[in-house]
Amino acid sequence: MSHPASTRVQEFIGDPFADESVVSQEKLEEIFTDIQSDLRFDYELNGCLNCGICTATCPAAHYYDFSPREIVQLLWTENLDGIYDAMQEKIWACAQCYTCAARCPFGNSPGGLIMIMRETAIKHGMESAKNVLRPFSRVMLKLISTGNQLSPDMINPEHFADWGPNISKVDAPLKLLRKAIPMPTLNTTETAWEVNLKTSVELYTIWEETGVLDQLETIDENLFDVILDIMDEKREDWDEWKDEQEDED
Ligand code: SF4
Ligand code: SF4
Repeated sequence: MSHPASTRVQEFIGDPFADESVVSQEKLEEIFTDIQSDLRFDYELNGCLNCGICTATCPAAHYYDFSPREIVQLLWTENLDGIYDAMQEKIWACAQCYTCAARCPFGNSPGGLIMIMRETAIKHGMESAKNVLRPFSRVMLKLISTGNQLSPDMINPEHFADWGPNISKVDAPLKLLRKAIPMPTLNTTETAWEVNLKTSVELYTIWEETGVLDQLETIDENLFDVILDIMDEKREDWDEWKDEQEDED
């Protein structure tokens, strides 16, 4: 029996009216295998009493339709449809505060398990991951191309109204104030701190070897191209610098 057109924006595997899953069983198994084979998985899931202590202490559960207990139960019972379903939206509600990990009587880390699920969602190029990460493209550009974070100057006070009076701290003459910091690496306002060329170039190898760049390509091809250009440029600069040193010797 077919059901009239769904009103859902995304295709949820758990739709009880669907004739068949929108994702094949093979794909569901592949996703779960990726989660389960992560090195952290066995440390972060030791069983589950279904006691709900994690949810009772979870700040995200107070504000969203989200429960770490539910996520852990899905993983513990190997509910592949439910796991896929949760990866479409729920896993992105977690604030990664790890209160749950500190309280779980079984020593589980629901927040850690959610992190693995998020990384798996990125690896599989899920729309939910793309939507969540889109607003962070500027951060990712900075982080991947320099190994650094947002510079204080990039924080626009108008976008952080909820900071209240604290916002004046980033609305100050930062260039001047940062010069007063004794460590020269923190004098910059272009990045959170100064990263030398060698460190950036070494990080590129780590991004390549650990699959970070592959994941970025899956999530945002344009950003991937921009970062690749920056990486090529910096690698050339680094080679030139080394050649200059050799010439001087
Ligand atoms: S606190 Fe631990 S045992 Fe209790 S529901 Fe959460 S994950 Fe399961
Ligand atoms: S890490 Fe996530 S799931 Fe755990 S308490 Fe914090 S917000 Fe909740």
